[in-house]
Amino acid sequence: MSKGLRALQSWGAKLSVLAMSLALVQSGSALAQSGFSGWGSGQNNTAESISYSDFLAKIEAGNIEQVDIYESRGIAEYTLKNQSSDEAPQQVRIFERDPELIEALRQQGVNFNQVPNDGGSPWVGILTQLLLGFILISLLLMFLRRSSNAPGGPGQILNFGKSRARFHMEASTGVNFGDVAGIEEAKEELQEVVTFLKQSEKFTAIGARIPRGVLLIGAPGTGKTLLAKAIAGEAGVPFFSISGSEFVEMFVGVGASRVRDLFKKAKESAPCLVFIDEIDAVGRQRGAGIGGGNDEREQTLNQLLTEMDGFEGNTGIIVIAATNRPDVLDTALLRPGRFDRQVMVDLPTYKGRLGILEVHSRDKKLGEDISLEAIARRTPGFSGAALANLLNEAAILTARRRKEAITTLEIEDAIDRVTIGMSMTPLMDTKKKWLIAYHEVGHALLMTLLKNTDPLNKVTIIPRSGGVGGFAQQVFDEERVDSGLYSRAWLMDQIKIYLGGRASEVEVFGDAEVTIGASSDLQAVGKLAREMVTRLGMSDLGHVALESESNGDVFLGRDWNSRSEYSEDMAVKVDREIREIVTHCYEEARRLIRENRDLLDKLVEVLLEKETIDGDEFRTVVKQYYTDPIKEPVLPQLPVA
Ligand code: ADP
Ligand code: ZN
Repeated sequence: MSKGLRALQSWGAKLSVLAMSLALVQSGSALAQSGFSGWGSGQNNTAESISYSDFLAKIEAGNIEQVDIYESRGIAEYTLKNQSSDEAPQQVRIFERDPELIEALRQQGVNFNQVPNDGGSPWVGILTQLLLGFILISLLLMFLRRSSNAPGGPGQILNFGKSRARFHMEASTGVNFGDVAGIEEAKEELQEVVTFLKQSEKFTAIGARIPRGVLLIGAPGTGKTLLAKAIAGEAGVPFFSISGSEFVEMFVGVGASRVRDLFKKAKESAPCLVFIDEIDAVGRQRGAGIGGGNDEREQTLNQLLTEMDGFEGNTGIIVIAATNRPDVLDTALLRPGRFDRQVMVDLPTYKGRLGILEVHSRDKKLGEDISLEAIARRTPGFSGAALANLLNEAAILTARRRKEAITTLEIEDAIDRVTIGMSMTPLMDTKKKWLIAYHEVGHALLMTLLKNTDPLNKVTIIPRSGGVGGFAQQVFDEERVDSGLYSRAWLMDQIKIYLGGRASEVEVFGDAEVTIGASSDLQAVGKLAREMVTRLGMSDLGHVALESESNGDVFLGRDWNSRSEYSEDMAVKVDREIREIVTHCYEEARRLIRENRDLLDKLVEVLLEKETIDGDEFRTVVKQYYTDPIKEPVLPQLPVA
């Protein structure tokens, strides 16, 4: 519901981690405590303790039945002659190596034992302390180790001098093109690489120069690693892999020596494929200043370039590198003879998603009611990895619910879980719950009443992890998302929907009661409105793009040096246009909500009772109050069984 809340939540998480380690320390000292108390534990468990002289007197009087002497603890336990058997023995302090006591016991013919080393000796305490020390040291080591995963982390010190190669080698990947779906164009382009690896002689015989490097460009999770593995699998050659971030070390020269090691091994196993993930970690523009002109990185990069230049015509090594930031790469990497082939790996479209779902559902039990087409429609913008994760989450939910096969319900829940967060226990009936209900119904009502938007899928006030108090969800038209063809009317309605939450709060509770719950909505509004004015030519400023790409949103954008290409004067106009759009949309949202206040109250009542309302149910309630026709969702065609 709100970024602000989310941030607070993540603080909460951090703090609780801290609290956890504190608790660890505390339970550690509690352990120490119990270790120490073992020392004198016996001292207090008798009601009355008598003096040593009284004890001797008792022995001499012949009142004592039996004595156990614990020399190490400096005590003796005794039972009296007239004591009943279920009474606990009593204790007395004694001296160490006390011949007088032994003598007296002998004389009186008292039955006695000397217990050499019971559990309560000082050794236990010492051992406990040693153990504690050991645990603390291993914990410390663990932390250091962990922090060493970050390049240049302090834990590197521990690895000093051990420049062991950190690459991985798989003799055969077991992956082939059949396992990669939804990125057909990239697959086609790379088909050729398989042939190069398989029959390099054919090409070199007629003087063709085999490419050495291919750069795969795409967002995380689109299957770049998978694709590289599939190429090696198809060609039947070994697969070497390393991540760019593993090159970058604290000590100058380590990265370069790793590169040397890697290529030495690769040459021994040629033909083979070398995969470098996250190449931007080493391959950034030299001297660009990002990361502070890192000497080590430059050396590593230079070594990489040297190795690639050193390939003779047909060493049979092909290097595939992956990145999602080609814009920051050093141009030297992209020169002919290096990574001169670049292949885009895009987020999958509807057909691609369907293909990926087919691949990943092969080994899963799907219920009769599952339609992969419907899932593919519901998941525009998902990457291959996200889809694989989605099916896995659904399978986990199915197992937890002790069902035989995954049903649509588990898919729905898994989608919410991966997109929004885990569901938490519902809120108690508080004002907060009312506020959230009005906020979410505000969004949902506009999704239903506005004409140029996508219909409501569901609205809920069951909180989610990450500080989400509830949400209203649309079924986006997947064609529009895949093609990116958003109309002005659609964008305007979307802004109204975002503002609907706040509008409803204000309408019902008044300006003073407005919460921070809308902060992420407002951010989205600002972004959309700005795009419309500056990039899409959808304002009175005319049909002109004032900025090339939105900052950071598109992974190809050179966001580190992007700047607006217009004057101060224009900037003022842009701001005015943005404000105009937002004000207009907000007023529209307020008006629609005000005119349908009864309906709003009714819907909130239902939502408070049910906590989740699905789209159809919501529309049924709306139709009772609203006479104009409302748009109905075009549901994905389900196969008729
Ligand atoms: P990247 O290297 O682009 O970040 P990966 O190749 O590591 O992505 O993808 C992670 C996982 O997601 C893969 O192991 C695979 O299970 C799944 N996946 C991603 N893209 C695809 C795809 N196009 N087809 C099938 N599975 C995919
Ligand atoms: Zn909202």
